[in-house]
Amino acid sequence: METQEKVYECAIIGGGLAGLCLSIQLADKGYSVLLFEKNKFPFHKVCGEYISMESRDFLIGLGLPYRELNLPVINTLGISSEQGFMLEHQLEMGGFGISRFTLDNQLFEIAESKGVKVMQGSRVTDVAETGSDYQIQTSDSVFRARIVCGSYGKYTPQFIHLKQVVNPEIEANNYIGVKYHIKASLPPNRIELHNFKDGYCGVSKVDRDWYCLCYLTTANNLLQNGKDIKLMEQNVLYKNPYLKAYFTESEFVNEQPLVISNVHFNKKQTDTDGIFLLGDAAGSITPLCGNGMSMAMRASKLLATELILFVENKQTKEQALKNYQNAWNHAFKTRITAGYHLQNLFGKRTTTDLALRALSKMPRLTGKLVSLTHGDVF
Ligand SMILES: Cc1cc2nc3c(=O)[nH]c(=O)nc-3n(C[C@H](O)[C@H](O)[C@H](O)COP(=O)(O)OP(=O)(O)OC[C@H]3O[C@@H](n4cnc5c(N)ncnc54)[C@H](O)[C@@H]3O)c2cc1C
Repeated sequence: METQEKVYECAIIGGGLAGLCLSIQLADKGYSVLLFEKNKFPFHKVCGEYISMESRDFLIGLGLPYRELNLPVINTLGISSEQGFMLEHQLEMGGFGISRFTLDNQLFEIAESKGVKVMQGSRVTDVAETGSDYQIQTSDSVFRARIVCGSYGKYTPQFIHLKQVVNPEIEANNYIGVKYHIKASLPPNRIELHNFKDGYCGVSKVDRDWYCLCYLTTANNLLQNGKDIKLMEQNVLYKNPYLKAYFTESEFVNEQPLVISNVHFNKKQTDTDGIFLLGDAAGSITPLCGNGMSMAMRASKLLATELILFVENKQTKEQALKNYQNAWNHAFKTRITAGYHLQNLFGKRTTTDLALRALSKMPRLTGKLVSLTHGDVF
């Protein structure tokens, strides 16, 4: 196994939104940055692909050619119950749609153009602290860096040791995520969330002529349908008339969906063994209750601020770890708590229907609830 001589200022494990955005901010400061991504760009990801407007200016600041991409701006929301009731709501902040295929690839190209050394198709298998720096191991090489950040997403790799907080409620809620790109007849400025038994499905426009149709449901729902996605869709999702129409009347860009399993939503921690964690690696909330992509990007900004102070010898590493943890908690605590409560309103047949009917008569309260899932512009 070859050990590289160069010691990078920062190594980032995972080239999703959190990792890519952090790498660009550090490269902008002139630091040497190494980013590992186990896949090769461009690639698809299970995600609803609706980004809250809070992140637009940040992305433009990083170099995303937002206007040229001609993305749909989304400002109306419809939420349906399985019984077919639709709550209509005008989104105050709203968002825009972009496929992860396009967004992550754009950020990857920006990162490379700014001098980030991107190791694509390169999975990190271990990290060891040597005293003066860290050694980061992939299948064929060992790299060295002064700082290591984990932005590997929702699945914690074996070499990362988190404090074991066993929460039976979270453990029991084991979800799967399923995503298709379709061609649908939905206004480009509208996002819809359709409830069904133990799950919900979002539909909204992204780039090209694609719409993203993405749902989250319990692993149990799939098990009860013989682990057959199509059968589960027919038996469970089709009970919602809106979903039945999307599934039976739309053109599917790819017949087979992208599927992820073993999805849990919980707050984890912002560091471990001196490694800074960000994005879903530090904690995630259900997509209905927050905007995970914006949270990942915001965390990258919070972390970049602390890392820059550390690299410039304006604070110690211990201070950087502590200050980042405080900033993370301050930024996301309300969303996480609100998300937890909101989650209980959805994916339940009668409760959801009653809640939506009640909320339709209280647009102010609906606006307040929606605003809890969005943050301020950063
Ligand atoms: C069903 C579903 C729908 C969602 N819909 C939305 C939505 O509409 N809007 C929204 O804002 N959020 C949504 N989210 C949440 C959002 O997708 C995530 O919060 C966001 O992608 C987190 O970004 P990240 O950079 O932390 O992780 P990711 O984007 O998952 O990136 C992590 C990267 O690390 C790589 N990696 C992992 N391990 C290693 C390793 N050992 N070595 C090298 N690379 C590695 C992975 O390949 C991956 O590319 C949704 C989530 C789900 C599950």
